[in-house]
Amino acid sequence: MRKTKNFIKNRMRNDNARQKEQLERMKQLAKSGKCFFCKENYLAVKASPVIYQSHHWYVKKNDFPYIGSTHHYLIAYKKHITKPTHLNKVAWLEFLKTIRWLEKYTGVKGYSMFVRSGDMRYTGATIDHLHFHFIVGGPKKRHSEIKDNILVTLGHKKTPDSY
Ligand SMILES: [Zn+2]
Repeated sequence: MRKTKNFIKNRMRNDNARQKEQLERMKQLAKSGKCFFCKENYLAVKASPVIYQSHHWYVKKNDFPYIGSTHHYLIAYKKHITKPTHLNKVAWLEFLKTIRWLEKYTGVKGYSMFVRSGDMRYTGATIDHLHFHFIVGGPKKRHSEIKDNILVTLGHKKTPDSY
């Protein structure tokens, strides 16, 4: 395995950043050594406000929404865990309630959710802290092409020059 400077404390991957401001924030976080999504750190930085929270979760807009999205929210676990398989039953039940709240809050007809987990070289994640994405675009065009879709990295094609 080739380690790079981008592999900062195994928490962030700068090379997965999509926007300049996002990269700058990540660099600042790296200096402070703090995880952006841990609740106590999140509240200390200038970012979108928390719009909902329960004992285990909080919800906020993604400060760097995917191009073409009309809604892009993040549902983050308050404490620092990295995998959905680390959640207990109570946390899952709260997660269900949170999604139901978000469905009502947005009032959308359809949405997609996803989560990245584990080694960030495989997932496209920028920060290794459990957070789910809730994302909505517009209705499909009659003659839709792949370029009309919201593009998101969920993994990378295996190639000879893969890490
Ligand atoms: Zn964290």
